[in-house]
Amino acid sequence: MYPFHHPFDRPVHYEGLFPVTNRYTYGIASEKFFRALKEEGIILGTHCPHCDKLYVPGTIFCETCLSELEDWRAVDNVGRVDTFTVLYKNLDGTYRTEPEIVAFIRLGDGGLVHRLAEIDPKSVLIGMQVAAVFKPPEERTGNILDIRYFKPV
Ligand SMILES: [Zn+2]
Repeated sequence: MYPFHHPFDRPVHYEGLFPVTNRYTYGIASEKFFRALKEEGIILGTHCPHCDKLYVPGTIFCETCLSELEDWRAVDNVGRVDTFTVLYKNLDGTYRTEPEIVAFIRLGDGGLVHRLAEIDPKSVLIGMQVAAVFKPPEERTGNILDIRYFKPV
């Protein structure tokens, strides 16, 4: 028993709809990363001189030694498939007309989750090399989809 008298025998509530929208900023590191994707068509990472780790996407602190990272580097747009999955359905449960391949592509000591294309899903192999295919500059918006997909090299 609560030591105070509550005026209701059950919680009161009301139903409503709050029309809330948000605008999120990328933050210091992601701002730089996505600006480079959009404006230069390059993938940026940061290097930790103490740990000799290349973070991709670039971060401003080393997660191992916590050093501030200032050595931004354009990384090779060719990475390797660390893992992948094949999607046969859409988020709403409907079947896709074509399966989609989503992979984690290792770049430096990090990597990106992205689409694989120009390959049959049955031919994808762990460890295979894949290259980023960028949208043309006029179509880029500063979004991870400025890389259209990765394809085998
Ligand atoms: Zn470090």
